[in-house]
Amino acid sequence: MSKKIETKNLKKYFQTPLGTLHAVDGVSFSVEEGQTIGVVGESGCGKSTLGRVVIKLLDHTDGEIFFDGENITHVSKARLRELRWKMQMIFQDPYASVNPRMTVSQIIAEPLKIAGRLDKAALDGRVAELMETVGLDARYSMTYPHELDGGRRQRISIARALALNPSFIVCDEPVSALDVSIQAQILNLIKDLQDRFGTTFIFISHNLAVVKYISHSIMVMYLGVSVEQCSTEELFKNPLHPYTRALLSAVPVADIHYEKKEIPIKGELASPINPPEGCRFAPRCSHASPKCFQQTPQSKDMGGGHFVACHLYT
Ligand code: SF4
Repeated sequence: MSKKIETKNLKKYFQTPLGTLHAVDGVSFSVEEGQTIGVVGESGCGKSTLGRVVIKLLDHTDGEIFFDGENITHVSKARLRELRWKMQMIFQDPYASVNPRMTVSQIIAEPLKIAGRLDKAALDGRVAELMETVGLDARYSMTYPHELDGGRRQRISIARALALNPSFIVCDEPVSALDVSIQAQILNLIKDLQDRFGTTFIFISHNLAVVKYISHSIMVMYLGVSVEQCSTEELFKNPLHPYTRALLSAVPVADIHYEKKEIPIKGELASPINPPEGCRFAPRCSHASPKCFQQTPQSKDMGGGHFVACHLYT
């Protein structure tokens, strides 16, 4: 398997009246072709910004991005237009991400029209095919998004994202606005699409149980940095970082005889504006030592591609 997406020391800063906001601060990761990496962390940890920077909806501040082995960090506008067809994004709120004045078939057809690749008959055929692919009945083709439930609206977004046969899709909290029963349908649809088309996904979520179900590997982010990365199985079997352990302790277990002890995380997520030296989790970590407040822990491979950034392991 080859690397579909890779980032090296990727950074995205925003200038604010209060200082520099370090939304993404030196994140390196890769995802193999046809696989899914789950990116998990609290709201404000930079995971959504990371997704937008990787797909080049936002400019990066520093670092490098590779797509199919090609360095796409600085590409021409013409090349970026070509890449846009190969890289797509599915957003959290399906209603906000579609035009409410367009019918379902118009919404799905829009990227095909912009690409200008198909005549009318071929375009209608492709829209019908896409609706079938995502499990949307043909009778909804002339309806408007507000007439449909959240699950069907998310299916429209997925059909639209698939229109140009992308090989890589960033899903930004695609199920968090949906009822639990509908969440399962959309997650299974994404899995089916990966099996059928070999699509590579970055799946962004604050919900570790959801990420566990859909991802081959997981990256845990905290305040703009990656604190732990490994295969999904390894993360749930052998979590190393104190933040990951606390997150995992809060994931419900389907066993009434098993009483799980939740590890509380004290305090609030600190501000990503002008973050101080040291471990960003230190103010909330029960293992913190003076070193943790002075030196930033570097990500270290503990074996088998299990990376952790914590002074407990250096
Ligand atoms: Fe806790 Fe220190 Fe590890 Fe940070 S580096 S997670 S403060 S033990």
